[in-house]
Amino acid sequence: MGQQLALRHVQKRYGPVWAVRDTSLEVQAGEFVSIVGPSGSGKTSLLTMIAGFETPTAGAIVVGDQDVTLLAPHHRNIGMVFQKYALFPHMTVRQNIAFPLKMRRLAKGQDADRRVDAMLDLVQLGALQSRYPHELSGGQQQRVAVARALVFDPPVILMDEPLGALDKKLRESMQFEIKQIQERIGATVIYVTHDQEEALTMSDRVAVMHAGRLEQIGTSVELYTRPETAFIADFVGSINFIPGIVCRIEKSAVTIRCGLSLLETRPTNIRSGELPGEGSSVRIGVRPEHVEIDTRSASGTRSIAQHGHTVERAMGSGLSGTVETIVFAGASRTALVRLHGAPDVVLRASLPAQLGALPERGAEVWLRISADATLLFNAS
Ligand code: ADP
Ligand code: MG
Repeated sequence: MGQQLALRHVQKRYGPVWAVRDTSLEVQAGEFVSIVGPSGSGKTSLLTMIAGFETPTAGAIVVGDQDVTLLAPHHRNIGMVFQKYALFPHMTVRQNIAFPLKMRRLAKGQDADRRVDAMLDLVQLGALQSRYPHELSGGQQQRVAVARALVFDPPVILMDEPLGALDKKLRESMQFEIKQIQERIGATVIYVTHDQEEALTMSDRVAVMHAGRLEQIGTSVELYTRPETAFIADFVGSINFIPGIVCRIEKSAVTIRCGLSLLETRPTNIRSGELPGEGSSVRIGVRPEHVEIDTRSASGTRSIAQHGHTVERAMGSGLSGTVETIVFAGASRTALVRLHGAPDVVLRASLPAQLGALPERGAEVWLRISADATLLFNAS
């Protein structure tokens, strides 16, 4: 069974570099938490402290009900897959995988053999079990590292970009297998990945690190719909930022002037007591799939461009602009639209697959944005 894990005000400094700043985190027993964040944001430093290979500059790490902050790694009962594999070079694949069982005296003889065989099957390396690490590709070494971390059914598993070197197909099947094992043994997992989609599909919750801080943790839906900062909104999924000025507030509805248009917002990421005041410079955040293009109102928008917001009032809340390009990526199509009256703002709008005629390049269009699909941030 998995164990609960807590970080209490953990910090890590390497000389002048703060790798991890005051970070607290509670992970439930059996929970799968992913950590994402740009390179250098402190993800590896955090994991190596939990595993015990680095000591925090300050703070405490608690596993189950034991404070393990100063405990040696092999006394922690934690399985770890390192970003750089860290296989034993003088041991074969099989010996590497068997090592934790031996070291922790968890199984011997046939029992140990059976567990190692099962792991070799899992990572599809049975045929290569007598090879040494230097005789393997990066992806194969990574699979050995995964098998070695899982072989002793640890209650807590830490993985630092464990599938980074694998091609897409193998990565997807390993994601599935890791998830299966985790659910079978009920392990608590902290999983670092640079692949957002991997994080969103595998995890109960996702934590986003930014410059040594854990900026937000939540379910994928929470991060996507209620990001606390513009950084999170931008990092998790794709988003447009539209600069504007607050010109009216009524209860939770905020009307914002953007270029020549007025846009009504009911931001999902701010409590109504914390809305910015009238006259504030803000940025509206809206996901491309929430920008709906209406080409039929082309003539209306042309007159908006000419006569300002009088016409647009009659058309409801939205933005007018000119189609710059249509980008094709596989089955999905995105229009880039330059806003009227705000020439440096280009919005991305996802075009639904069933949409008949595509808007033409140069077409003047009306962009409808539902007030409930908007986020609001301070101006940068
Ligand atoms: P990530 O895994 O998110 O890419 P790291 O935890 O590896 O980030 O690094 C966080 C910061 O700490 C970086 O600025 C990195 O250069 C620095 N750092 C990491 N390990 C060391 C170390 N052993 N000595 C000095 N600086 C380090
Ligand atoms: Mg790292």
